[in-house]
Amino acid sequence: MSNPAADRPLRVAIIGAGPAGVYAADILTKAEREFEVSIDLFDRYPTPYGLIRYGVAPDHPRIKGIVKALHKVLDRGDIRFLGNVNYGQDITLADIRDMYDAVIFATGAIKDADLKIPGMELEGAYGAADFVSWYDGHPDVPRTWPLKAKQIAVIGNGNVALDVARVLSKHAEDMLVTEIPDNVYAGLAASPVTDVHIFGRRGPAQVKFTPLELRELSHSRDVDIVLYPEDFEFDDASDETIKKNNQAKTMVNTLTNWLVEQEDREEAEEAGTRAPASRRLHLHFLHAPLEITGTNGAVEGIQFERQELDGTGNVRGTGDIVDYDVQAVYRAIGYFGSELAEVGFDPGRGVIPNDGGRVLGDDGQQLPGLYATGWIKRGPVGLIGSTKGDALETIGNLLEDRLELPAAAHPDEQAIIDLLNEREVAFTTWEGWVALDAHEHSLGEAAGTVETSAGLVTRERVKVVARDEMVRLSKQQQKQ
Ligand code: NAP
Repeated sequence: MSNPAADRPLRVAIIGAGPAGVYAADILTKAEREFEVSIDLFDRYPTPYGLIRYGVAPDHPRIKGIVKALHKVLDRGDIRFLGNVNYGQDITLADIRDMYDAVIFATGAIKDADLKIPGMELEGAYGAADFVSWYDGHPDVPRTWPLKAKQIAVIGNGNVALDVARVLSKHAEDMLVTEIPDNVYAGLAASPVTDVHIFGRRGPAQVKFTPLELRELSHSRDVDIVLYPEDFEFDDASDETIKKNNQAKTMVNTLTNWLVEQEDREEAEEAGTRAPASRRLHLHFLHAPLEITGTNGAVEGIQFERQELDGTGNVRGTGDIVDYDVQAVYRAIGYFGSELAEVGFDPGRGVIPNDGGRVLGDDGQQLPGLYATGWIKRGPVGLIGSTKGDALETIGNLLEDRLELPAAAHPDEQAIIDLLNEREVAFTTWEGWVALDAHEHSLGEAAGTVETSAGLVTRERVKVVARDEMVRLSKQQQKQ
C-alpha cells in the first residue's frame, strides 16, 4: 500500500455536513501534520448544517448560534461543500474509494426509535422526529401536519420531548419571531390544542432533560405548567443523584419551585385575582406507557401503568392502570441511526460498528480508509458540542493510520465534479448556500414587522422548504 499523502494532498470525503461532519473537517484541517489535506464535505440536503437546520427547534436561537461558528469554518474556503448528493444513490462506496484515500461517515441519527406498544399504528400516533422534520421545513416530508387534537400525549423525558411539547403548546404567533416556514405557522395557528401531557417512565431525579431547556418551558405565554405532587417520589438513589449531580439538583429544584408556584396560582385563581391560561402543559412522572387506544382507527386515549422507584433509581410497576383521553400521541423516546449502503450496521444500537471511529467489517477487523463520527458512531446521545470529542478521536485515528490508507486511483479534485456532472446530479456548493441563505433572510425582511397579539414581531428569516426551489436558488449563483 502506497503512502497517499507523500506527493499530493490526502483526499478525504466526509458524508454528512451536520455539526459532526463540519467539526471533523475543521479538526482535520487544523491538525498538526506535515502534508496537505483536501476535504470534500457531502450532504444529501442542498444545504449544510444537518441537524441544526432540520432537527433543532426553531425557537432555540441560542443553538442556532452554533451555525455562526460552523459558517465561519466552511466560509474559510479550505473545505469544499457538495450538497444534494445522496451517498448510496448518487455516489457509491466504490466511487468514493476511487477518488478519496479515506471517508468519514457523519450521517447522524434521524429516525424515531420504535415504541413497541399496541396502538402505534393508529392515526394520530406519531414519531417526534417526523414532527420535528415538519416544523423545521425538511424538504422530504409532507407540507401539512394533522394538528387536530385538543389533548396530546408526548412520551419521553428527554430534550426532544420538551421541544415537541413546547412547540405543540405555544401559541403560533409566538413562533413568528423564528424562521418557521409559512405552512408551519398556518398549521400551528389552526391547532385547537388545549392540553399537552409529557409522560416520563421514571421520576423527576431521573429525567434526561437539561436545565436550560426545562426552564424554558415556563417562558411560553398563556401556557400554565401543571405538575402532580404524587409524582414527586424520591428513593435513596434519587437523593444520592440530587446530592452529587448538580444538573439533576437544578432540575429537581426547578420542578419543585413550579409546584409551589402552582399552589400560589391556584389560590389566586380561586380568589379571582388571576385568570387561568388558555393552554396547559402537564408534566407526569412514573408513567410507563402500556397501550394507545382507539376504536375507529384513530387515537382516543393512552393507558399507562403507574411506576414506583425501586431504591436504585430504576422503577417497577405498581399494577395501577391509568387512562388519559388524548387524540394524538408523540413518542419522543430517542432517535435511531439509519443503515448506509455498503457499510456494516449494528441493528441493536443503530450505529456503524467501529472502534474509536475506525469502521469494522463483519469479522471485527478494521476496514482500511473507512471512519465514522458523531451519532452514527456512538448513538444519539449528547448535546451538539459532544460531537467535537468524537471528531477529535476519529481524526486522531485517521491520522495515525495515514500510511496504511488505501490510496485513491483518481485523487484529482475535479474527478468528483466530472462524475456528478456526468450523472446529472444537481449538486450545490458553498457559494450556492450563501446565496440561498441571503434569499431566506430577504424573505424575512420582506415579511417585515408583523403586529401580533404577542406584540410587534420582526421576521429574521423565512426558510425555503422545497428541495427543487432550494437547488434552483443555490444554482443561480454558483459557478461550476
Ligand atoms: P434522550 O435524551 O435519550 O431521552 C429519551 C427519553 O425517552 C428518556 O426519558 C427515556 O427514559 C425515554 N424512553 C426511552 N424508551 C422509552 C420507553 N420505551 N417508554 C417510555 N419512555 C422511554 O433522547 P432525545 O430526547 O431524543 O434527545 C437525544 C439527544 O439530543 C440528547 O442528548 C438531547 O439532550 C439532545 N437534544 C438537545 C436539545 C437541546 O435543546 N439542547 C434538543 C433536542 C435534543 P429513560 O431515561 O427511562 O430511558
